[in-house]
Amino acid sequence: MAKEELECSFCGRKKPETSLLIAGLDAHICDRCIEQAHGIVLEESKQSGNSELSAELMLKKPKEIKGFLDEYIIGQENTKRVMSVAVYNHYKRLLQPPTDDDIEIQKSNIIMVGQTGTGKTLMAKTIAKMLNVPLAIVDATVLTEAGYVGEDVESILTRLLQAADYNLEKAQRGIVFIDEIDKIARKSDNPSITRDVSGEGVQQALLKLLEGTVVNVPPKGGRKHPDQKFIEVDTENILFIAGGAFDGIERVITKRLNMQAIGYSSINKESVDKDNILKYIIPKDLKDFGLIPEIIGRLPVLTYMDPLDAKTLRAILTEPKNAIIKQYKKLFEMDEVDFTITDGALDYIVGKAIEYKLGARGLRSLCEEILTEAMFELPGSGETKLNITKSYAEDRLNKSTLKKLKAVS
Ligand code: ADP
Repeated sequence: MAKEELECSFCGRKKPETSLLIAGLDAHICDRCIEQAHGIVLEESKQSGNSELSAELMLKKPKEIKGFLDEYIIGQENTKRVMSVAVYNHYKRLLQPPTDDDIEIQKSNIIMVGQTGTGKTLMAKTIAKMLNVPLAIVDATVLTEAGYVGEDVESILTRLLQAADYNLEKAQRGIVFIDEIDKIARKSDNPSITRDVSGEGVQQALLKLLEGTVVNVPPKGGRKHPDQKFIEVDTENILFIAGGAFDGIERVITKRLNMQAIGYSSINKESVDKDNILKYIIPKDLKDFGLIPEIIGRLPVLTYMDPLDAKTLRAILTEPKNAIIKQYKKLFEMDEVDFTITDGALDYIVGKAIEYKLGARGLRSLCEEILTEAMFELPGSGETKLNITKSYAEDRLNKSTLKKLKAVS
């Protein structure tokens, strides 16, 4: 067939009348027919989707969800329990058949408060992995109100669509993790915020997404543009998880606890766990920090992360299903090197992570610093054993840039 005679085998449109003509074995399909067919596929999956989802999800009770989280996340017992119930309820809500009573189950969007590196993102990632739903991780600091330099809140949904490979149905049941939600707190109540392209405006814009609404989303992201085609995304069944360090909120909590201790309250000043003030957090503290009450109301499940002590950091190195040390063992195994590390070396790494205030995130960079040399030298050397001792680790770190980092800080 001559090139100019090519046509769509479905609608018969000639090649020049189409924007795109894709060749199959002995047929062609044009862009418009692809779109139509895609619509049909979506409709179909909408009808069959619910039952598939229910089969997959209803098998997982809160205890099983927690069991899954336990495999990947050390400690954080309270958050794991709270999350398991919230996620369970969220998907129960999603699967509820329409009833004639007026009881409408509200969304269980979650807010996690805890220092950086305590596992908030890991929590959201693990939940998404378990449910096999798409996850978008966004940073609240880049969000701005429409009209300002930065990203519109709709960009959150662009990310979710991308994570779902543009499968709208999947995206609409996905999870959005909004990190650093504390950074869009109102400035007046929070002197530590240096930028305020009206944090409150961003909170207002976010509110609509959290509530459940249909949003026109530019599929490729970027600013809204009159010629750009939009995808309508319904946020009704998207689970939003927000996280933030809320630096300084301990002061707000302590102040409130002191007031309560003066007044009539069950909280006894002496029994307060001063090393973990966050565990007393209540929604009012978030308001005093600068989140608007409407946002707090749309994130009804409030939970906190425990600070990571040496014991927890040590366990993070070796225990989770994909623990850092297990990963290195596997990497060396591929070069037929038997990798071992002594307790002394592990304790040394934990000590350094605490000393440099690097938290759990630092464990990885410390291990990289210690092991890069061996990972460079050993492959192909015929060496079959590598045992990392404390003195080896010490020696490597003394030569590394992390040491310089410490000198600066
Ligand atoms: P956050 O979001 O609170 O800043 P992350 O979830 O990004 O912290 O944690 C950083 C890294 O530290 C993760 O990739 C994970 O490897 C590790 N980590 C942190 N907390 C835990 C934990 N409780 N259990 C296992 N690993 C953890």
